[in-house]
This record gives sequence, structure tokens and C-alpha cells, in this order.
Amino acid sequence: MNTLLLNSSKESILTAAKFLKSGGLCAIPTETVYGLAANALDSGAVAKIFAAKGRPQDNPLIVHIASLSMLEELVLYIPDSARRLTQRFWPGPLTIILPKSGKIPNEVSAGLDTVAVRMPAHSLALELITAAGVPLAAPSANLSGSPSPTCAAHVMADLNGRIDAVLDGGSCTVGVESTVITLASEKPRLLRPGAVTPEQLRELLGEVEIDPAVLSQLQAGEAASSPGMKYKHYAPKARITIIEGDLQSFNEYLQAYSKHSKAFALCFEGEEGAIPLPCVSYGRQECPDEQAARLFDALRRLDELGAERVFARCPAKEGLALAVYNRLLRAAGFDVRN
Ligand code: AMP
Ligand code: MG
Repeated sequence: MNTLLLNSSKESILTAAKFLKSGGLCAIPTETVYGLAANALDSGAVAKIFAAKGRPQDNPLIVHIASLSMLEELVLYIPDSARRLTQRFWPGPLTIILPKSGKIPNEVSAGLDTVAVRMPAHSLALELITAAGVPLAAPSANLSGSPSPTCAAHVMADLNGRIDAVLDGGSCTVGVESTVITLASEKPRLLRPGAVTPEQLRELLGEVEIDPAVLSQLQAGEAASSPGMKYKHYAPKARITIIEGDLQSFNEYLQAYSKHSKAFALCFEGEEGAIPLPCVSYGRQECPDEQAARLFDALRRLDELGAERVFARCPAKEGLALAVYNRLLRAAGFDVRN
């Protein structure tokens, strides 16, 4: 299959909409990461997403919408808590899980009785959903397991030849996937951290539980509230270790590896000169928004450089940095040293 690279013109949006309406796959920009979209109401089209990405069948997809009337059709009911969240955070990087209506094919929800829905804050994505006239199921537009794509070139590197088109909307501003909260459980529960922080959610909802899988590895046999959290994720080819502590202890840890020709540091911007290994940086230490925007690109860059062993400076564990830490933790297979 020849993958068309489309620009952001009106014509391109119509071309992409045509692919989607006829059951095809199109990668689309959002403010979080690029999504691999198909008509969410067409089970055959949705099945193609799993095939193109090599995604495990039991990992459900997020449905992207452009209006609240689309939400009403996709869920059984909209609780007051959901209304408050959509009013404050949509369009934006917050995915809400609710009991699904009969319109949602099993392929989208991976057999669960809930559905994850989000209204993205990206004009091209919203225009495309409106032009297609249907909600779009869209997981991240990467091969399953590799870092999520934050620009059209990342999508092409993974999916060229496997999908109909990529709509190029430039680099994603947020750079990590949406916050996922479920309102289908007894208490609101955060399943995945993102740019909408636990602090912001608690301001609106009061108590919000944090799913244990956000910060720790599921034990064998333990059920995942969000199936995606049990899979290896975001991983470059190198083995990554996260080093907690200050720059000095980081450097002390690195001493043993200074002669290793394929060892790299994944550090904060500005630290490069002080570290005894070749460095790839992912934003300034005090700027979690820069870290989020650059992390996945930095992980891909380490692959390009042939890194085999990577030592990463540790992000903070609150606010947006919690999302950065959560992704890095999975890229490192939970290997954290103090
Ligand atoms: P992706 O779009 O690739 O970032 O993946 C979507 C994430 O949302 C995955 O971690 C899924 O497991 C999670 N997700 C989607 N739908 C549901 C649902 N109905 N219940 C729980 N988690 C979900
Ligand atoms: Mg993904």
C-alpha cells in the first residue's frame, strides 16, 4: 500500500475524510501525539488499526469526537462529573471512560462494556472528524511497543506502507498521550497521567484515586484496569535505567560505563557538558512541558544513534512531570536505581 503524506490544506482534509469514510486508515495530528484513525462505528475499519500497529487485541481504543452530541450517542449516560470535566477540559488532553452504548463495536472497546472518549484540541483533527461525519477510533500512530509519534516523520518511520495516509499537522504541542480517567468505577480513578493533572481533576471532582499501575508494575496474574498499562511501551532498542537523585550521584553511577562505546545519558537540557557520556537531552529540569514535548523524540533519537545502554535523569513525580515519569518508567521496563 502506498501511504499518502498529506499537508494541512482543506483539500487534504477532504482526501483524508474520504479514506476514513470508505473504511481506510489515516494518521492524524492531535495536541498529544499522532493518532491512527479509523471510523469508530465500522468494526472492519477498526480491525485494520490493530493489524497495522501490531496491537494486542485486548487493548481498547480511544474514540475521538468533535461535538458533545457525538458523546451522547456513544455512552449509556453522562454523569454530572463528566459534564464538569468536559466543560473545563474539552477540547483538550483528557480521555473519559464511561459505560458504552450499543453503537460501539466490540473491536473498539476490546470486549469491555465501557468506552474511552476524547475531544482533541487540534483544529485539523476537529475539522477531519467533522468532515468524516463520524467519531474516529485512534490509538497512537506508532508500531505497538515503540515510542509514540509526535510528528509526521515518526509516523512514516513506523507505518509507511501500512496505512492509507498521514495528515501532517507539524509537531504535537503536548507530546505525551492524554490523561485517562474512568467514571465507570465507584470512584473516579486516574488510569493514565497526562497534561490534565491529578491536582486539576481533584479540584473539580474531589477524591480521585490513582490506579496502582500508574507508578508500579502489575504483578503476574493481576488484572489491569486499563489493559494498555500491562504492555511494554515506548521502548527504544537500548536498555534504559532511570537514576534517581541529583546530577552528582548520576555522574557517580555513570563512572563504570564511561568506556562503554554504546552507552548514552538521557539528560536534562544544559547538563550535557557535565556528564561523562554522550548525551541526548529532553528539556530543562524545571520545565515538565518541555520534557513531555521532547521525550518520545529523544527516545527515537537514541535508536538512531545506536544506543545500547541508556541512563536517564529522573523527572519529578507530580503535575505534568508525573506523565513524563510514567512513560519513561515503561520505556525503562521499571528499572529505577537510587
Ligand atoms: P493509546 O490510544 O494507544 O494511547 O491507548 C489508549 C489507552 O487507553 C490504553 O492504555 C487503553 O488500555 C486505554 N483504554 C481505552 N479504552 C479503555 C477502556 N474502555 N477502559 C480502560 N482503559 C481504556
Ligand atoms: Mg499507544
